Amino acid sequence: MKDEHAGTTINRIVIIGAGFGGLRAAKTLRNTGLDVLLIDRQNYHLFQPLLYQVATASIEQEAIAYPIRAIIRSWDGVRFRMAEVTDLDLDRRRVITEDGAVDYDMLIVAAGAATNFFGIPSIEQHAHELKSLQDAVDLRNRVLSLFEQATLVMTDAERRALLTFVVVGGGPTGVEFAGALAELVRNVLGKDHTEEIVGAARIVLVEMLDTVLTPYERDLREYAVERLEHLGVEVRLGAAVEAMDGTRVYLSDGNVIPSHTLLWMAGVQAASITRAIPVDKERGGRVPVDEYLRLVDYPDVYIVGDMAYVEDEADNPLPQMAPIAIQQGEYAAKNILAHQTGEIAAAFAYNDKGKMAVIGRGHAVAHALGLKLRGVIAWLAWLALHLMMLIDFRNRLVVLVNWAYDYLLFERKVRLITGHNVGSLPGTTVEAAPSDERLPAVDVMDIST
Ligand SMILES: Cc1cc2nc3c(=O)[nH]c(=O)nc-3n(C[C@H](O)[C@H](O)[C@H](O)COP(=O)(O)OP(=O)(O)OC[C@H]3O[C@@H](n4cnc5c(N)ncnc54)[C@H](O)[C@@H]3O)c2cc1C
Repeated sequence: MKDEHAGTTINRIVIIGAGFGGLRAAKTLRNTGLDVLLIDRQNYHLFQPLLYQVATASIEQEAIAYPIRAIIRSWDGVRFRMAEVTDLDLDRRRVITEDGAVDYDMLIVAAGAATNFFGIPSIEQHAHELKSLQDAVDLRNRVLSLFEQATLVMTDAERRALLTFVVVGGGPTGVEFAGALAELVRNVLGKDHTEEIVGAARIVLVEMLDTVLTPYERDLREYAVERLEHLGVEVRLGAAVEAMDGTRVYLSDGNVIPSHTLLWMAGVQAASITRAIPVDKERGGRVPVDEYLRLVDYPDVYIVGDMAYVEDEADNPLPQMAPIAIQQGEYAAKNILAHQTGEIAAAFAYNDKGKMAVIGRGHAVAHALGLKLRGVIAWLAWLALHLMMLIDFRNRLVVLVNWAYDYLLFERKVRLITGHNVGSLPGTTVEAAPSDERLPAVDVMDIST
């Protein structure tokens, strides 16, 4: 197929974002004679799928982050600049960073996503998110600090509220986090603390739909709920979290859960830089693109990964997942190379190799290579895949050793409280409701859209 926009000389490719999509694009463009500039606000590539393990003290943060300069060191033609991109001037082919402007001939925007609090101020104010490495470390610190705090003199109701963790969102992140947190409490903190303290701990997973892990088949979804409950997680389906006041979480069914920690894993929206792209956005702020992942009015701009709105053959939006970002990054880069010769590849089509989610040690669900798996086989497949996807041999080794240690000894060595950024921790005079109570409906926003 001929590229109607071919003909201009391409010298410089700018890639915004060194996440899954941007990094793969840069890798595909290395050693090709092109001048590739990779820009990211962080100096490391982050393996987000294992963030929940950092937050639950399973692995250290260094195991899932890798310096970008070390990755690209041997990639000829690829340079890195650590900077925040603040604006885009697509008409002048210019990326504006906090340190000045950069011109491009072709642009790949792969800036990912941010947490979506659906505009609910009380949740934005009080909820904890899990998107960055710092979020994960802060969460670990908070969970461990609350258990320390719970050793102080207080009433049973106060202790229960202190140690109640409400996880919102029954997608893979919420399910995996809730399972891992339950195991941390039961298997590890149970050895560190008295029965009085550990017995007061409570993990509640709240999902507004009537199931967790929506894209999976029914028996796998039921299996996931069964496993979570076996681990001691309370699964509340068909209820949305509508508000939080710092000590209570308000549900749409009228229930109120006394809790000091709300973990928001219920949605993402495209990264804030999408504001600089002058098109009408799709749901979640995602940017619509043509079948080649380009902006319709700016064919020299590719949008890939979590930011891009692309539909599958059944007209459903592709989910925001790492393999999709990787395939799109590679596709965009190959198209840019093909552009040199005036050709472009066929329209982008996602090659779906499957999905999987882990629910505590030894248990997972998976749809992979046409197979439906659950239990230990799915778990082993999950372990192998995630180890393979980590970027460096050292990281793989560190993670493997931590997992083996955790699995064999029911231990989590990384249960360290570091720094002080754990959010407001209540004192012993905290006021808490004695148990779940039903209160009159509060004035909250609808988050179902
Ligand atoms: C907790 C969690 C668990 C997940 N688990 C899974 C899983 O099990 N399986 C799965 O497939 N997917 C999972 N995902 C989703 C997966 O991580 C994303 O789909 C994937 O990272 C998207 O890749 P991307 O390249 O679009 O963006 P990202 O990988 O997020 O990379 C975006 C990059 O852009 C940079 N950036 C953003 N804005 C700017 C700016 N203005 N200036 C400079 N740099 C900027 C960021 O620093 C970042 O490095 C998970 C995500 C999270 C948060």
